[in-house]
Amino acid sequence: MILLDGKKTSADLKAEITESVKLLKADGKKTPHLAAILVGTDGASMTYVNAKVKACELVGFKSTLIDLPENTSEEKLLQEIEKLNNDSDIDGFIVQLPLPKHIEEQKVLNAVNPDKDVDGFHPTNVGRMALDMPCFLPATPFGILELLERYNVETSGKHVVVIGRSHIVGRPMSILMSQKRKAGDATVTVAHSRTKNLKELTLQADIIVAALGIPEFLTGDMVKDGVTIIDVGITRIEDTTKKSGYRLAGDVHFESVSPKSAYITPVPGGVGPMTIAMLMKNTLLACERK
Ligand code: NAD
Repeated sequence: MILLDGKKTSADLKAEITESVKLLKADGKKTPHLAAILVGTDGASMTYVNAKVKACELVGFKSTLIDLPENTSEEKLLQEIEKLNNDSDIDGFIVQLPLPKHIEEQKVLNAVNPDKDVDGFHPTNVGRMALDMPCFLPATPFGILELLERYNVETSGKHVVVIGRSHIVGRPMSILMSQKRKAGDATVTVAHSRTKNLKELTLQADIIVAALGIPEFLTGDMVKDGVTIIDVGITRIEDTTKKSGYRLAGDVHFESVSPKSAYITPVPGGVGPMTIAMLMKNTLLACERK
């Protein structure tokens, strides 16, 4: 069993991005600048946004955090987005999800200039991704492709079962891995909450991407020997033995699945750190494309 080490791979990636930023600066070019909008005080969202700001500092980017109260109106949020769209120093920005219930998420995502949409959530980028055209790939699927590539995991002709069909993970993952590309050329099955014979499908899978958000859902009896496992899930589970009061659990029951796996991502330290590194990569690309 080989661990797909997202912590190490993301550190390598960030070191490469740091070098690219140094070269840009030495050439007298602008410093990449990422902005993030956070609405409200959701604990997980604040942790993610702070990690993104920290990553910017690490690679030498400029970063701006726009912290808005929970009761911010949709109109006010759209105005903030328009400001960032028109600010020539901002190369890319993200709106941290989820948004409070009174704000229509898709309307907000549609307002982001696709050239600055480093999360890759705007319909223009999603369409370009589906057509295999230059675009910003959503960070989590992009990070998974990068991990598979860097560990030379063979995907061509393999049967991939993606569990989950969300717009940010499952759906793009299934599209990307079926395309003619590195870490692609696979035969992909998408499973979701209405799938009836999931175990039959996962037992046939060479690669499983688990992105359903149910802790330790995929167990050893559901996978065949030699499988590659990508565990996207991150759920906070109460744990009084931890200082924080919780631990992070993936969608895969690591103890029973890892002995049967050729490759597996741990949680934490697998897909999570890759996601932040790919957001940095997209911001660098946005700056270079300008
Ligand atoms: P989501 O809730 O939007 O989607 C879950 C999907 O799982 C749905 O499509 C649903 O149909 C499917 N599903 C639910 N129950 C199922 C079942 N019993 N069998 C088969 N399919 C089932 O979730 P999401 O946003 O895609 O996130 C999934 C998980 O990944 C969450 O734990 C989330 O926290 C995590 N996540 C991690 C990262 C990262 O950077 N590592 C990024 C995004 C999401």
